Amino acid sequence: MFDKILIANRGEIALRVIRACSEMGIASVAVHSTADSDAMHVRMADESICIGPPPSSASYLSMPAILSACEITGAQAIHPGYGFLSENAQFVQMVEDHGITFIGPRAEHIRMMGDKITAKETAKALSIPVVPGSDGGVPDIETARRVAAGIGYPVIIKATAGGGGRGMKVAQDEASLEVAFRTARAEAKAAFGNDEVYIEKYLQRPRHIEIQVFGDGRGNAIHLGERDCSLQRRHQKVLEEAPGPVITPEQRDRIGRICADAVARLQYAGAGTIEFLFEDGEFYFIEMNTRLQVEHPVTEAIYGVDLVREQIRVAAGEPMSLRQDQLSIRGHAIEARINAERLPNFAPSPGRISQYHAPGGLGVRMDSALYDGYVIPPYYDSLIGKLIVHGRDRAEALARLNRALNELIVDGVDTTIPLFCDLLKEPDIQRGDYSIHWLERWLEREYGN
Ligand code: ADP
Repeated sequence: MFDKILIANRGEIALRVIRACSEMGIASVAVHSTADSDAMHVRMADESICIGPPPSSASYLSMPAILSACEITGAQAIHPGYGFLSENAQFVQMVEDHGITFIGPRAEHIRMMGDKITAKETAKALSIPVVPGSDGGVPDIETARRVAAGIGYPVIIKATAGGGGRGMKVAQDEASLEVAFRTARAEAKAAFGNDEVYIEKYLQRPRHIEIQVFGDGRGNAIHLGERDCSLQRRHQKVLEEAPGPVITPEQRDRIGRICADAVARLQYAGAGTIEFLFEDGEFYFIEMNTRLQVEHPVTEAIYGVDLVREQIRVAAGEPMSLRQDQLSIRGHAIEARINAERLPNFAPSPGRISQYHAPGGLGVRMDSALYDGYVIPPYYDSLIGKLIVHGRDRAEALARLNRALNELIVDGVDTTIPLFCDLLKEPDIQRGDYSIHWLERWLEREYGN
């Protein structure tokens, strides 16, 4: 096992990894930009090292700075968290070339899933059901017309190099196809430096269901059921729950088995998430994330596992401690993503926290790097905390979320806490009756945006 792990991240996810290290008796090294000198992850780690100025391009995304930090501190492994360098195949290669272990999958698997067309082709070859669409990239508008007519409108045009919901455009009919096609390409070029796009059938009222998988890199793999992440704003997740309110045990077993088999055949190492749209009882693959997800705690809650601990074990060459036949679901869990944003338009709201009080009690987990007097810097993501609740069933989890939200105090900046209080009053949310488009329509109606 490793003696020392460097965490190439910040905020709540850095704390999450430090906590796992501490329980495993492993020393942790925090890295930070000059804007984060007073951050909680720096205080909580055993050691810390400054890696550059505030912009992430010069600090948290700087490969030489992070590798030097490993060299100086003698860390044997790097945990990337999510975001930043977590899905950067070049970084993984560099880390390995320096004799340091990357806690995550191999570079080839990151590369394979990072390009959406290759990912979809790989999924198909592994018997994972995919959304009907073009065979690979669509080079021009004539091809786009032919493909769209073949699969039927509406269609969605998506960037091959896409991520974070960017470079996606919907065309309702042939008349709007050309504009959508050109806009998607221009956006893709601007955001990813690659204007290749592909076309898929646009599903009208699907749910976003993702399967948590885990492999040992030697051909053994398991699945840990699904998370329903259908509540989204601009293709960004807002609230996640597990198990999915509309997934039956048979559907879970079937898709879970398909995903675990695929991951085993790839000899994939570590945690991964296979994302699907789910409509009328059918699953349609959209992408695979080759890292720990923001919403992993809901899975941890219902399966009673520590996914980070498992990631570290597998990276150190130890066998997985989880076996499919020993995994079963207990209760229901929900996560609310708390962002420092001003409602109703979700404008970023950085600044000084005058008072912070985390909720507690049975079935409540608050993953956050906030503290009284902390100043949220304006340079990074606006996620400031994740409130995760666990109950014996969905109704208990919802009541617990409501109770915990009322206990939570974040003063000094605007946050999305009131959004969750409002959402919990909605009968559709109470019933679990929502598709990926529900939240945007609700926001338009309730908040006028
Ligand atoms: P990204 O990597 O940019 O997040 P994804 O492929 O994961 O892109 O898609 C993000 C979201 O976009 C999905 O969760 C869903 O809300 C929407 N979406 C993607 N593909 C489709 C589709 N074929 N039909 C309807 N909605 C889609």
